[in-house]
Amino acid sequence: SAIRWLAIVTVGVILIPAMGWMLLTGERPAILLSLGLVIFCLSALRATKVLSNAMQQNFEMTHALREAKESAERLASTDHLTGLTSRGAFVERADAPFQYCRRNGLPVSVAVLDLDHFKQVNDTRGHAVGDLALKHAARLIQSSLRKSDLCCRWGGEEFVSLLPDTALEDAAGVAEKLRLAIVANPVTLESGSLPMTASFGVAEGDRSLEALIDRADSALYRAKNEGRNRVAVDE
Ligand code: GH3
Ligand code: MG
Ligand code: MG
Repeated sequence: SAIRWLAIVTVGVILIPAMGWMLLTGERPAILLSLGLVIFCLSALRATKVLSNAMQQNFEMTHALREAKESAERLASTDHLTGLTSRGAFVERADAPFQYCRRNGLPVSVAVLDLDHFKQVNDTRGHAVGDLALKHAARLIQSSLRKSDLCCRWGGEEFVSLLPDTALEDAAGVAEKLRLAIVANPVTLESGSLPMTASFGVAEGDRSLEALIDRADSALYRAKNEGRNRVAVDE
């Protein structure tokens, strides 16, 4: 048995009294048999120790493996810089609310945000300041959205939000509120503050999430062409 106490109790309660009884008989075969029993008891105790150690190690390894797997999954689903959901995890997680809205006739929108002239931030202030600005933007985005909304860092200085149960007009309102928040909250640096602006593309409903994001992206392209720092709505 791998359960040590059970093996010890068995040896103590059954085998040792049996050995004693055999020795007391004084007969040669019984004495030899009791010597065999001593060897058996010792090897049983040793085996149970080895087995219980192996099981303990197995248990610890399984636990460590599960923790490592969970940590790897957490790392893969989180953008390391901003702490927002990563693009891959967003696409996975957004599917359920997207399909739910479609099945139940609820509106569902997507807002795509791209920071304006961000390359200049890196070029003039350095990459570290660029990273700070991205974290700052991520915080503003997250605090502007509802709990039921999902947002992610799509890549670089671009962020995508899924707004379930939100029609195009309301989604444009959410984007405009966020645009104003970005303008009103420059990044605070030791050397002063860094103003930022962002452009937005907003679209509502489609047969697939991918198609919806594509349309919001086209609207974003228009917002950039029309002068940036604005919200463009899918037409
Ligand atoms: P536009 O207004 O047209 O969007 O101009 P832009 O300069 O923002 O766009 P562009 O695509 O030319 O440049 C994006 C920049 O974002 C370039 C890249 O160095 C920067 N960037 C992307 N990811 C990161 C990052 O993780 N950290 C930093 N610091 N910069 C990043
Ligand atoms: Mg940009
Ligand atoms: Mg970009």
